[in-house]
Amino acid sequence: MENSKLKMEKIVSLTKRRGFVFLSSEIYGGFSSCYDFGPLGVEMKNNIKLAWRDEMIKNHENIVGLDSAILMSPRVWQASGHLTAGFADTLVECKSCHKRFRADEIEGQGRDRGGTVPKVCPECGGQLTEPRKFNLMMKTFVGPIENEAAVTYLRAETCQGIYVNFENVLNSMRLKVPFGICQIGKSFRNEITPKDFIYRTREFEQMEMQWFCHPKDAKKYFEYWKKERLNWYLNLGIKKENLRIREHKKEELAHYAIAGADIEYRFPFGWREIEGIHNRGDFDLKNHSKYSDKDLSYYDEETKAKYIPYIIETSGGVDRSCLVFLVDAYEEIEGGRTKTTKSTKEIEILLELHKKIAPIKVAVLPLVRNKPELVKKTKEVYQMLKPHFVCQYDELGSIGRRYRRQDEIATIFCLTVDFESLKQDDLTIRNRDTMAQERVKIKELVRILKEKLED
Ligand code: ATP
Repeated sequence: MENSKLKMEKIVSLTKRRGFVFLSSEIYGGFSSCYDFGPLGVEMKNNIKLAWRDEMIKNHENIVGLDSAILMSPRVWQASGHLTAGFADTLVECKSCHKRFRADEIEGQGRDRGGTVPKVCPECGGQLTEPRKFNLMMKTFVGPIENEAAVTYLRAETCQGIYVNFENVLNSMRLKVPFGICQIGKSFRNEITPKDFIYRTREFEQMEMQWFCHPKDAKKYFEYWKKERLNWYLNLGIKKENLRIREHKKEELAHYAIAGADIEYRFPFGWREIEGIHNRGDFDLKNHSKYSDKDLSYYDEETKAKYIPYIIETSGGVDRSCLVFLVDAYEEIEGGRTKTTKSTKEIEILLELHKKIAPIKVAVLPLVRNKPELVKKTKEVYQMLKPHFVCQYDELGSIGRRYRRQDEIATIFCLTVDFESLKQDDLTIRNRDTMAQERVKIKELVRILKEKLED
């Protein structure tokens, strides 16, 4: 337990030190478990989003994108059930230390005991209050007058934007069921206990895909998407032993779901959900039909049948995925990996992010910085590569130290320009994972790096 806490602390510290994640409004003491993504964090996050979009749109048939507004008619949230008990967490408070907890999260008393009501405070052993419901929607006002008529909500999930655009997308793209609509965007939840760094925050990004299918095919696609989504994480290098699928028990199913499963990851703080896959049946389109008075059923030209499609959803978090990739890739090597020089007894940090996810692909380094002709040539190489790859130029410190600095932020290749380079017009490419070095001609560099990064 202590070790796992330490691992999280080290990761949090690395992400701050190297520009991945900062506490929001830090100079004012932070704000409400909100985080900002720094220069490397934003590259990484964009890489995750791109990998997800590519997976959905390029690697599957019949999936199209959408970017719907965060603010929507409050009637959407009435239809979806978010304003009623359906979207509320159960809050308990300790009568002694006054800490608040989500009832289902109290270990040994909550979910893993089949949803029994927890009685004992996990912090101080005091008595807990009776559970009460706490709605997670974030209220806001649109327009200049703050009255009931102006109330709306920051969306709590991106998928409602997909459901209300079902007909627009279907007609404008001339799609046929089965098809999918995917989108990435911010969601907001007034979480009772935001915690575990970027695992649970009140503002976060989701990557959601809604697959519309014939009711008779829903079971088959539910199974299909569970496998597909698990494979996405595996293909991006997440270790198999750290991933599992947990099927939802009947009593924990969300109000809209016929069946549900979580993809869980083994974080230092335990196994936790990183993505939900649900068979939502016809709940969403039926309710939006009812509340909007618009018939959202689908007419199948071939069979001449009219029906409300079932929806299989895959719903993952960008920030949570970010944490998964960081935790899974983080490695400490006592004494370092270099065997050619005497061990410095330092702990080396290696962040083995998948090449698609790593924020910086290439670092360009002069062997030494006090030789102007080396520096000049290295800068020329950097300028040549910059339009093609996310690159860094670094000349500070010994070459070994610079390699380690790049290993720590997952840079895939370090290119070193040495004295030989001035004569041969070549340089060495060092591979982050194997540390193997090879000499290549500078004029072939773009092609070679592209091949290496894409294979
Ligand atoms: P939890 O039980 O952890 O609160 P949930 O079951 O309410 O999650 P879903 O509504 O299924 O979550 O949301 C889908 C995904 O969105 C989650 O798997 C997660 O990746 C992401 N997500 C949800 N809530 C948060 C949050 N507060 N912070 C960061 N990511 C979140």
